[in-house]
Amino acid sequence: MKAIISHDIDHITVWEHLFRDTIIPKYLARMHIELFSNKISLREYTLRWSDFFKNKWQNIDELITFNNICGIHSSFFIAVNKGVGLNYSNTSALLWIEQMQRRNCEIGIHGIEYENAEELRKEFDLFCKLSKIKDPGIRMHYVRNTEKTYQLLAQTGYKYDSTEHAFKNPYKIGEMWEFPFQIMDGWIIENYKSWQSINLDKAKEATIRLIDKADKGNLKYLGIDFHDRYFSHAFKTWLDWYMWLVDYLKTNKIAVVNFNEAIKEMEGG
Ligand SMILES: [Zn+2]
Repeated sequence: MKAIISHDIDHITVWEHLFRDTIIPKYLARMHIELFSNKISLREYTLRWSDFFKNKWQNIDELITFNNICGIHSSFFIAVNKGVGLNYSNTSALLWIEQMQRRNCEIGIHGIEYENAEELRKEFDLFCKLSKIKDPGIRMHYVRNTEKTYQLLAQTGYKYDSTEHAFKNPYKIGEMWEFPFQIMDGWIIENYKSWQSINLDKAKEATIRLIDKADKGNLKYLGIDFHDRYFSHAFKTWLDWYMWLVDYLKTNKIAVVNFNEAIKEMEGG
């Protein structure tokens, strides 16, 4: 089994949310619940205020640097449309697309539209224009989908999608590769709540159970989704969990590839 690690970019700044959605009050409520339930330290709490006033809610550069040191090819999904608490501008997205391209990252779309073929096409065309990538991949924001979504993505021309959460091997829908994924940071650490509800040890145990399940199911690729936002000392459990996971994969000889590398392997190229 190999692993594919990818990162969804949900936020870039704090200000992008001002008067547009409920992310800021939710952030403030969450850090207080986590502090008073002893899930985060006073240091983390202080650092969250510091990120807030620095207007910095992404850790893309830091994450690429860490991945590079560990020999992991970074793969990101970035949005060119707004919705469900994702509110950064295309100008901000373009700056990061250029920065990620300079650092040789694989980049796909973090999709907002998941039902309407015309709107899906608009996101696809805009992303291709901004990134100059002709055959991008996609993961839906909040993994939103209906029974029609995957077919629509394939028809739009996506090379790969990684929205489905399932213990299944990659498979083809038309010309598109679907890469089901198995591990999402939030599902582990929040454990069905809207805030951190378990500690690092419990998160590690839950993760090992999922890796073992993937291994027993003979999966060729273990899909892992980690948000760059949490690669920060302000989210110490998340940061420690990701660094532990990368080390765990290495110790267990699970090599990490990106989507395009996996496609090449599967197509025998
Ligand atoms: Zn998202």
